[in-house]
Amino acid sequence: MAVSLASKPAPASTAEGEAMKFEIHPTDHPTSDKDRAAKLADPGFGRVFTDHMAIVRYTQGKGWHDARVESRANFPLDPALAVLHYAQEIFEGLKAYKRDDGGVNLFRPDANARRFQSSADRMAMAQLPESVFIDAVEQVVRIDRAWIPGGEGSLYLRPFMIASEVFLGVKPSAEYIFAVIASPVGSYFKGGPAPVSIWVSEHYTRAAVGGTGAVKCGGNYAASLRAQAEAIEHGCDQVVFLDAVERRYVEELGGMNVFFVFDDGSLLTPPLGTILPGITRDSIIQLARDAGKQVREEVYSIEQWRADAASGKLKEAFACGTAAVISPIGKVRSASGDFVINGGAAGPVAMGLRKQLVDIQYGRTNDPHNWIRKVL
Ligand SMILES: *Cc1c(COP(=O)(O)O)cnc(C)c1O
Repeated sequence: MAVSLASKPAPASTAEGEAMKFEIHPTDHPTSDKDRAAKLADPGFGRVFTDHMAIVRYTQGKGWHDARVESRANFPLDPALAVLHYAQEIFEGLKAYKRDDGGVNLFRPDANARRFQSSADRMAMAQLPESVFIDAVEQVVRIDRAWIPGGEGSLYLRPFMIASEVFLGVKPSAEYIFAVIASPVGSYFKGGPAPVSIWVSEHYTRAAVGGTGAVKCGGNYAASLRAQAEAIEHGCDQVVFLDAVERRYVEELGGMNVFFVFDDGSLLTPPLGTILPGITRDSIIQLARDAGKQVREEVYSIEQWRADAASGKLKEAFACGTAAVISPIGKVRSASGDFVINGGAAGPVAMGLRKQLVDIQYGRTNDPHNWIRKVL
């Protein structure tokens, strides 16, 4: 079944800050309990989807309208749909976590909503009010609550926006579709996070000053895939990018930020600018500072990284993001040689921060910064 992209008659429209009401149309072909249980047994990442989606349309002059929660379905794609040609597309990623009391938490969805707005601004797309973003996410969580795995699993939510004007001219689209889909995911790592090996990309860069590095747009990922493939060819799990000007300073992985931990207990993470401002990154900075640790947001070169790993000054390195939370980095490989960190094992700072963050997300500990939003 396809969803009509045409506007429906006389819907409520909304400008920034106004409330918008979602029409709820539950699916008439829900997945059976038996089929859902089978899908939830080992969902992996991003392959299993729930029954519903939220969708809101935007038309220039009319604003946001037609907010609906309905059966997950195909979009009919006109071959001239703007997003297919000029890649005006942004997305977000966040999770719903089942608490032990059966309720459901979201983690800092307001931060995702604000980042979505800054992504839209950079990509010359329509601004979605923060309240509509959060409402759409919550509606999907509520209607598909049966799909939220227990234990260490979670429901991965993917809000996104595409340029939907049928026009080949190069200009910002006059029409957009915002949607939220949901995908149950198992624990990213079975039996605790295994340290990852990373490949230093010396040929490809991810982002330049003035570009889109700080924006969650699909185009950044398209441009990173060749470098990620090179990492795999070199036997590594992930690629790490260096800055585009000097080709020295560590930026981030393809989809995760990076932290370094030193022998004096301090942490360092690359400064914002050309990297994606991760919500996990921000939360880790806060938690580490709460614990009295010094956290510097400073440039760090690959030569320094290598030297500090060799001298023992560097104790740990880890990557972080919503999907995997924290992944220790055990080994770094580059054209100029390999080095290991902490003997290739996960370190106590990474693992401690990981537990602290996960405990907050699942509501197992107190939430000093009011990061949790209870949906159910
Ligand atoms: C989403 C993303 C991250 C991590 O951000 P979180 O908000 O922590 O999930 C890091 N780098 C890139 C390139 C990303 O797209």
